[in-house]
Amino acid sequence: MTKQIQERLISSSLPTPCYILDEEKLIANGIILKELQSQTGCKILLAQKAFSNYGLYPVLAPYLAGTEASGLYEARLGAEEMSGKECHVFCAAYREEEFEELLRYADHIVFNSPSQLRKFGALAKSAGKEVGIRINPECSTQEGHGLYDPCAPGSRLGTTREQWQNEMTPELVSLLDGIHFHTLCEQNSDALEQTLCSVEEKFGFILHSVKWLNMGGGHHITRADYDIERLKSCIRHMQSVYHLEIYLEPGEAVALNAGYLLTRVLDIVKNNDVSTAILDMSAACHTPDVLEMPYRPPLFLSGEAKEKAYTYRLAGPTCLAGDVVGDYSFDAPLKEGDFLLLEDMAIYSTCKNNTFNGMPLPDIWAAKKDQSYELLARFGYEDFKYRLGRKKILF
Ligand SMILES: *Cc1c(COP(=O)(O)O)cnc(C)c1O
Repeated sequence: MTKQIQERLISSSLPTPCYILDEEKLIANGIILKELQSQTGCKILLAQKAFSNYGLYPVLAPYLAGTEASGLYEARLGAEEMSGKECHVFCAAYREEEFEELLRYADHIVFNSPSQLRKFGALAKSAGKEVGIRINPECSTQEGHGLYDPCAPGSRLGTTREQWQNEMTPELVSLLDGIHFHTLCEQNSDALEQTLCSVEEKFGFILHSVKWLNMGGGHHITRADYDIERLKSCIRHMQSVYHLEIYLEPGEAVALNAGYLLTRVLDIVKNNDVSTAILDMSAACHTPDVLEMPYRPPLFLSGEAKEKAYTYRLAGPTCLAGDVVGDYSFDAPLKEGDFLLLEDMAIYSTCKNNTFNGMPLPDIWAAKKDQSYELLARFGYEDFKYRLGRKKILF
């Protein structure tokens, strides 16, 4: 099934570079998440920082309990574009200037520290909001991804047991409706199981006196090898021991493998034994996680370097020497004008791109269930220029 859509996309003659979001795959992911909710009674929110192409929120909404936001703008987006559903927010520190407005959009507000809870908790409660605090169970389950480990020593994310003991007064505790943790990244349910042991050991005492537990994101629930049965037993364990309402807020799992970046070869250059295909997309601008994380994205009809007959380094047209997607091999030599299809590009792509080097932002298209394409967004010179100064327009 997926191979067919990829063949269709690569010959679609959509203008490049462009992101293409696959409605059918979003629905397939949604069905898995919906089933998990009906079988366990947990609630699943979309973490918008991974995927916030709101043109497709109506496609996802039937499968989700609501949205999760990283701050004011995402909370507003969730409230506007997935209205009538729950709207949760977590931010490491809220600003006084934005808090009143935030109360208009969010119904669950999670604080990172006892001091933030002291500063804003009573205000949130009196506005009728559910109030939570993020804990840090100090249980690292990731290897080699320091950038993505909120449990690394010295982390600013979440309240440790020691901080709790020093700073949480009974008055602050009485403001709490729930507890939140987020410690995983692209992980399976064994890592959650391990994390829950630490959560119970360090924070079990408080779990009996709150209503809900939000277990964050990083659960790769829709990945083929994900152990959903183990996730279900984790959820059921927390429900039965502590009588908690359980929330999950995955970003990646909602839109996993549900997007593509279609790009074209502009030139081929050879330096010593390295052949580079210069593309009309840039890793630095259009897939920044490729450089930041870093990782090598899957590419349709390609192999590892040297696996197939012709190996190329795929790179962007910018002046950044390291603007490289990765080394890939092909059955036939690449030539100018060839189309290439990068896979798994719905997540952390459209919401992270930028116009460094004056690079244009790619179109965003939806590949619809009926095999038609819908243009969700097109950008031009104005979008580049106005980010750098809007004097003529605003003042
Ligand atoms: C990033 C994040 C998520 C989503 O993480 P994914 O890895 O995309 O599933 C959820 N909750 C919080 C608090 C986050 O910071």
